[in-house]
Amino acid sequence: MTERIFLSSPHMSGKEQSYIDYAFDTNWIAPLGPNVDGFEREIADYVQLNDAAATSSGTAALHLALELLDVQKDDVVFCSTLTFVASVNPILYMNATPVFIDSEEKTWNMSPIALEKALKDAKQNGKLPKAVIVVNLYGQSAMMDELVALCDEYGVPLVEDAAESLGAYYKGKPSGSFGKFGVFSFNGNKIITTSGGGMLVSNDVEALKHARFLATQARDAAVHYQHSVMGYNYRLSNILAGVGRAQLEVLDERVNARRAVFDRYVEAFGGVEGIDFMPELENTYGNRWLTTLTLNPEKINITPYELIEALGKESIEARPVWKPLHLQPLFEGSTFYPHSEDNAVSERLFEQGICLPSGSNMTVEQQQRVIDKVIAVLGVEKYAYHSAE
Ligand SMILES: *Cc1c(COP(=O)(O)O)cnc(C)c1O
Repeated sequence: MTERIFLSSPHMSGKEQSYIDYAFDTNWIAPLGPNVDGFEREIADYVQLNDAAATSSGTAALHLALELLDVQKDDVVFCSTLTFVASVNPILYMNATPVFIDSEEKTWNMSPIALEKALKDAKQNGKLPKAVIVVNLYGQSAMMDELVALCDEYGVPLVEDAAESLGAYYKGKPSGSFGKFGVFSFNGNKIITTSGGGMLVSNDVEALKHARFLATQARDAAVHYQHSVMGYNYRLSNILAGVGRAQLEVLDERVNARRAVFDRYVEAFGGVEGIDFMPELENTYGNRWLTTLTLNPEKINITPYELIEALGKESIEARPVWKPLHLQPLFEGSTFYPHSEDNAVSERLFEQGICLPSGSNMTVEQQQRVIDKVIAVLGVEKYAYHSAE
């Protein structure tokens, strides 16, 4: 039987157990304790911000960010359309309305052109969004200079959904550090994992103090249990925070390993006409969480779905690119701003895109199995080659 190759599986370093033991030895078997404090400090240092608040998931961290920005019922929040639904569900938790912003070609992330149009319209209608959630897809930073400048111009806070981009850099600055708030996820499939967990980061120490308050059922400062506002149970377990501390120690190694996986795929079929890998913007350094590419249907007569199915038969897990949220039944009838009137970039990326196995724990032999199968299914010898990037 052939061993299954996953898209992205957990990759332990071996140092996790000592942090878990530390939690047990000190009996901090709770959603607070020295590992939580340590993990928060270490993440804040890593992304060069004043503070970080550990949460039970990335989704919870996003939810808290919207709470801190005082998003209310019937408010509007802008969000990248090409993303996982978790980027947007917290908008629904707030009974607010998402407006979806298209991607551009250079990063596959939020189009500054589409965002500008949406902000202009919103201003004209007298209802600016309460926040703009910018996602860094597959570990690639969005065009932060342009997006931050637009948000500043219109006075709308930016929330960076960096769930997939921990360890990436944009012009020398850590991904996740660009907005009023940044969000990370440590779900099992992310570049580092605590099995489940998240982090809310910011330079606003007071805001994060309030986030911790909201995340622990919003208990007022009273001996008896007193509550004036609604809260949540969103803190991260001290045991899991220990796993996170060990994982963070090897984050840069994990980024290097994923980038090496990407490079081997590019070497194998980056030169095939009709195959285009997700680009990397100049002066940025992606973590290449997932290697993603598009198959141009004018040049390649296999669809991503056919390729995914063929790989699946060989116990190789591949996936389409995220289905844009404005196309999801959940968001039927919602407003969408395309990159240009006749070009919805995210829709093309969804139709043509595929994610290949990209785990940092993949062996070269496993990756060769993927490469051989892709080459066989596509029949790449039929295609013209251009020089690989
Ligand atoms: C994984 C992910 C999230 C959610 O993180 P969880 O920890 O699973 O709640 C949010 N946004 C994006 C883009 C993600 O990939």
